Amino acid sequence: DPRIPRIASSIRVVPDFPKKGIMFQDITTLLLDPKAFKDTVDLFVERYTGRDISVVAGVEARGFIFGPPIALAIGAKFIPLRKPRKLPGEVISENYVLEYGTDCLEMHIGAVQPGERALVVDDLIATGGTLCAAMSLLERAGAEVVECACVIELPELKGRERLNGKPLFILMESH
Ligand code: 5GP
Repeated sequence: DPRIPRIASSIRVVPDFPKKGIMFQDITTLLLDPKAFKDTVDLFVERYTGRDISVVAGVEARGFIFGPPIALAIGAKFIPLRKPRKLPGEVISENYVLEYGTDCLEMHIGAVQPGERALVVDDLIATGGTLCAAMSLLERAGAEVVECACVIELPELKGRERLNGKPLFILMESH
């Protein structure tokens, strides 16, 4: 798709952020290019329209940028999956392992009903730990995760293998 190279070239790579050795994929520059931002959302909307998806769940923080416009366009609700102690209502929590230490995602109880078909959205998959935790939250609430969708995959980290066979759709790989 000719839109993808344009999107790719709008993403800035920042060496040694947030620490030495990391080539950080900065999607804030994609957001500065309205055509690239729209094309990004459109590519997901084209894929997920007519798939009977009633829930788009976005992972804090950059899943909150791409998730809502996709949800609105396909007529689904949006659920924020948040870092601990941000959501005011009753939550379920899922801990996951990071390179150093652990992190946690939370979801409001009652946000999703059993049997609903869900899409999980984030900007990037690295080790896959974040998406794995996001899927667990939805599945514990009885939803069916149809697919995970990210703008960028870092294929060397083999995060795909942590998704227990769940399909992952990406727009581009980064090395
Ligand atoms: P994982 O859990 O797959 O190891 O890491 C993915 C999470 O870390 C995502 O929520 C993503 O936003 C964030 N992340 C890790 N590396 C990068 C990066 O280079 N660029 C951006 N934008 N996010 C990253």
